[in-house]
Amino acid sequence: MPSALVTGGAGFIGSHLVDRLVEEGWNVTVLDNFSTGRFENIANAFKTGRLRIIIGDAKTVDLLSEEGNVEYVFHFAANPDVRETSPSIHFQENVVATFNMLEYARKAGVRMFVFASSSTVYGDASKIPTPEEYGPLKPISLYGAAKLAAEGLVSSYCYTFGMSGVSLRLANVVGPRLTHGVVHDFINKLLQNPGRLEILGDGSQRKSYIWVGDCVEAVLHVSRLVEASGYEVYNIGSDDWVTVSEIADMVIESMGLSSVEKVFTGGVENGRGWIGDVKLMNLDISRIKATGWRPRHTSREAVKLSIEERLRELGLKS
Ligand code: NAD
Repeated sequence: MPSALVTGGAGFIGSHLVDRLVEEGWNVTVLDNFSTGRFENIANAFKTGRLRIIIGDAKTVDLLSEEGNVEYVFHFAANPDVRETSPSIHFQENVVATFNMLEYARKAGVRMFVFASSSTVYGDASKIPTPEEYGPLKPISLYGAAKLAAEGLVSSYCYTFGMSGVSLRLANVVGPRLTHGVVHDFINKLLQNPGRLEILGDGSQRKSYIWVGDCVEAVLHVSRLVEASGYEVYNIGSDDWVTVSEIADMVIESMGLSSVEKVFTGGVENGRGWIGDVKLMNLDISRIKATGWRPRHTSREAVKLSIEERLRELGLKS
């Protein structure tokens, strides 16, 4: 079985990927600084004895002496907060960290570099659903800009140093262990005040969501496909999309609440939730579907499942 390094492997998506790799018998090493990651996310995988954990920072760690035989790097460590407006945080956590991991991959002779990019690289796309060939890419958030810069590095390392790689432009991923995002925010706010829900923006922001299990399937599927073909880019999402206001209604219903006043902040620039919030996002997933993968859940189902799961995690549902 191949060996893999999963950066950010103690985080939300990374830990689900780790579970899946360990289940398939891979030898897995997690590199995580536990800034948002949690040991409990990978505790079960750790018990199998096929998982090593390195507590370290992707920006600075020198893995060469300890991790010489890695075949696949799944680079998921990042600052995933799109709302963060510190240029330096995005540059350090999302560009420098990717550069350092690519340097490791180059020197260690890694076969395949899988990069968790994001739909935010498209910015306000004029074509929706947005295909991978869409351009020019004009991200409107620092997060999206950093992801795009990192994609450029991955592409150039593949061509220059003969490794294979893929940038995965993920839609909004939801599911168990999620610690951020709209579902999380709404549930937290309603727990604090069950009579009032503040919604950033005008509520008409419409986006695509993907269930984390579907996302992990796609990550593995694409990694195997691209292995022999240099560098590729794939959108990973589902076909439909949901508005923020609809998500608010779904959360309110699942929490069994009635008479909740939905208060829209109005946001910025025609109802965006915050500066840099892409109002309309739906990815064209024809490319990955043509290779045989398809999501098992729609956006709406994924959001609904994620709400139920979060309420279970909080002990509010059985
Ligand atoms: P997460 O915060 O749960 O996971 C990130 C993990 O990386 C955490 O375990 C954290 O401790 C670790 N980490 C952060 N900085 C690090 C560093 N410098 N060195 C080592 N470890 C570090 O976030 P997530 O939602 O699981 O996101 C995983 C990846 O997927 C990120 O690259 C994110 O940008 C990308 N992505 C996520 C979504 C989404 O909807 N969740 C959408 C598009 C892209």
